[in-house]
Amino acid sequence: MKKPRILVVGSSNTDMIIKVGRIPRPGETLIGGRFVTAAGGKGANQAVAAARAGADVTFVARVGRDMFGDRTLAGLKADKINTRHIQRDPKAPSGVALIFVSESGENSIAVASGANEKLLPKDVQNAEAAFKNADMLVTQLENPVSSITAAARLAKKHGVPVILNPAPAPAAPLPASLLKLVSIITPNETEAEFLSGIKVTDTASAEAAARVIMGKGVKNVIITLGSKGAYLCNAETSKLVPVRKVKAVDTTAAGDTFNGALAVALSEGRSLADAVCFANAAATISVTRLGAQPSAPTRAEIERLMR
Ligand code: ATP
Repeated sequence: MKKPRILVVGSSNTDMIIKVGRIPRPGETLIGGRFVTAAGGKGANQAVAAARAGADVTFVARVGRDMFGDRTLAGLKADKINTRHIQRDPKAPSGVALIFVSESGENSIAVASGANEKLLPKDVQNAEAAFKNADMLVTQLENPVSSITAAARLAKKHGVPVILNPAPAPAAPLPASLLKLVSIITPNETEAEFLSGIKVTDTASAEAAARVIMGKGVKNVIITLGSKGAYLCNAETSKLVPVRKVKAVDTTAAGDTFNGALAVALSEGRSLADAVCFANAAATISVTRLGAQPSAPTRAEIERLMR
C-alpha cells in the first residue's frame, strides 16, 4: 500500500520533565524527582506519531536558532520527517515546556511558546507546495490562530481534509471562518467543554457537547475521553469507542498520538470508526511510556495491539 502523505502545521517544543511522587502545590518544593528531556510540542508530537504509524510526513513549523532547535530538527529527521518547511527564527528562542508527571500519570505543564508564536500566515503560505500533494492536514492551536486559519484555507484550496485538534483550549472562541474549514475536530473533555459550554463527564454529556460543536459547522466530532476511549459523533453515528485497560505511566501526548494515528488511518481509507480504533490503540500504547515523542508507537506495535 502507498504510504499516506500527512502535512502537519504546528508547534515544536523541548519538554523538560520531572517525574515526581505528586504534583507540587503552589509555594511547595519537592525533592527527589527524576529529570529527563524529551522532544515535544503538539505539532511535532503529532508529526512523529503519524510518521511512526506509517505516513510520509511534512512538518511546517518555526524553531529558534539555538541548541533546542538543532536537536528538534535532528530528532524529526531521525523519524524521516520532511523538515524543509521548518523556519529558524533569528530572534525568538525555541519553544520549551516544563512538565511535572506524578506517580499516577497525571501531568501539569507550563509552556514558553517562543518561536511557535512567530509562525506567521506568510510562513504557511510559503509552504503551499506541501499542501498540493497532501492527503490530510493535521493542526492544533499552539501557533497564532491566523496561521492555523491560513493553513486550513490552503488545505481547502487544494482539496485536503483538515483535522483540527483544538488544543490547548483557546483563550477566545475559535473563529467561524476556521471551524467551517475543518473536517474533523478532536477536542479532549476540557476543550469540548470550552467549545460547547457543556461539561463533559460521561457519554451522554459527550454526545450533547459533540452536537453543539457540530452545530458550529464541523461535520465530525471526536471527543477523546482519556481512559474511557473516544466519543465519535457525526450525522451517521454517535458512539463511544472504548480502549483496553492499561497501567498509565505518563499521559503526556496521548491526545497527540491519537491525532497522528487517526490521520494515517483515515488517509489509508479506513472508516471513521475503524480509524478511531486504530488511534485509540496507538494512544493506549503511548500512555504506558514516559515522554511525548519517545512514547509514540511504531506501526508494528499498533498492529500487534489490535490483533
Ligand atoms: P494529552 O493532553 O495528555 O496529550 P489529552 O487530554 O489530549 O491528552 P486524552 O483524552 O486524555 O487526551 O487521551 C487521548 C487518548 O489517549 C484517549 O482517547 C485514549 O485513546 C488514550 N488514553 C488516554 N489515557 C488513557 C488511559 N489511562 N488508558 C488507556 N488509554 C488512554
